[in-house]
Amino acid sequence: MKTIDLRSDTVSHPTPAMREAMAKAAVGDDVYHDDPTVNQLEADAAALLGKEAAVFVSSGTQGNLCALLAHCGRGDSILVGDTSHIFRYEQGGMAQLGGILPHTVPVQADGTLGLDDLQAAINPDDEHMPVTRLVAIENTHNAAGGIPLSAEYTAQVADFARRNRLRFHIDGARIFNAAAAFDVEAKSLAKDADSLTFCLSKGLCAPVGSVLVGDAAFIRRARRARKVLGGSMRQAGILAAAGLIALHEMRLRLRDDHDNAQLLAEGLSEIPGLKIRSQSTNFVFFSLRAAADVTPQELAKALREDHQILISPYGGDQGQFRLRTHYWIDRAAIDKVVKAVGALLS
Ligand SMILES: *Cc1c(COP(=O)(O)O)cnc(C)c1O
Repeated sequence: MKTIDLRSDTVSHPTPAMREAMAKAAVGDDVYHDDPTVNQLEADAAALLGKEAAVFVSSGTQGNLCALLAHCGRGDSILVGDTSHIFRYEQGGMAQLGGILPHTVPVQADGTLGLDDLQAAINPDDEHMPVTRLVAIENTHNAAGGIPLSAEYTAQVADFARRNRLRFHIDGARIFNAAAAFDVEAKSLAKDADSLTFCLSKGLCAPVGSVLVGDAAFIRRARRARKVLGGSMRQAGILAAAGLIALHEMRLRLRDDHDNAQLLAEGLSEIPGLKIRSQSTNFVFFSLRAAADVTPQELAKALREDHQILISPYGGDQGQFRLRTHYWIDRAAIDKVVKAVGALLS
C-alpha cells in the first residue's frame, strides 16, 4: 500500500521524467555562468514572469533573503505581513544577516495587507527612524489558508509602493497556484513588482530549488547576496533540469491539485465530527468538533498506523489540520482519505 502524504506539497517527489532529465542534463560551472541548463531555467523563468533576469537559488528562504539583501541596506525597514512566511518562518534572516528591520502589518482574512495600514506604517523622513525601503506580499498566502491574491490587488500595492518610493517584493512561493486559481498568466501577477521568488520544489515537484526574478541590475546584486550566503552552485544543471520540467509541464496541471483539494474538502465536510475551516487553491484546513471523541494527535496517529495516511496537526488560526494536495495525490487517494477519516470519526 502506498503512503498518502498530505502534510505538505513540499513532500512531492520528483517525477520519472524529472529523474530522466536530471540524468541527461548538460552541465557546467554555474559560478562561471557556464551551466546551459541553469541558464535556460533562468531565462525561461524570467520570460514566464515577464522580468529581465533571474537567479536560481537553493530554496525559497534563500531567494527571499537574496531579494531583501539586494533591495535594502543595514538599518532599512520593510513592511511585511504579521503572519507572512518572510516574517514568521525564515528565522528573521533579514535581521540576523542583513540588519533589516521588519515592520509588520496585519494580514487580513483574504491574505492581503490593508492599504491604509501600509500607508500608516511608513516612517516619516525623520532621523530618529529607520528608512522604510520595501513592501512585501505573499501569493498565495500560506497562513491565510493558501488564498491567491489578484492582479488588481497587486497593482494597488505597486501603486502604493510607487507613490511612496518603496521597492515591491512578492514572496510568490506558490505564484503558479495563484495563476491557476485566477486562470491568468503568472506574468500578470508579477508585472507590478520589482522582484518575485517562486518555488520549484512544492506543487511543481522538483527536488530542490527556487527562482528569484527581477530586472538585470537587481539580479546582479541578488547574485552577490547568494554568493555570500553560500548559495552559489556548480553543476547545478542536474537540479535545473528538473526545474525546467516543473516550469513547463508541472505548472500546467496545478488546477488538478486545486480540484482535488476541493473534492477533499467536500468529502470531509460530510463527516459530522469535523468542520472544514477553509479551502483555497491546494490547501484544506479542518478542525475536529468538540464532540469528536478523538484528539487531533490520536486521529493523525490512527490514520498513519492503520491507513498509511500522513496528516499533521497544525494548530494555526485556520484550524487543527492543514492538508495540501499535490501531484502524488490523485482522486483515488482523496476517496481513501475521506473514507478513513469518516470511519475513525464515526
Ligand atoms: C515554502 C515557502 C517559502 C520558503 O521556501 P523554502 O524552500 O522552504 O525555503 C517561502 N514563502 C512561502 C509562502 C512558502 O510557502
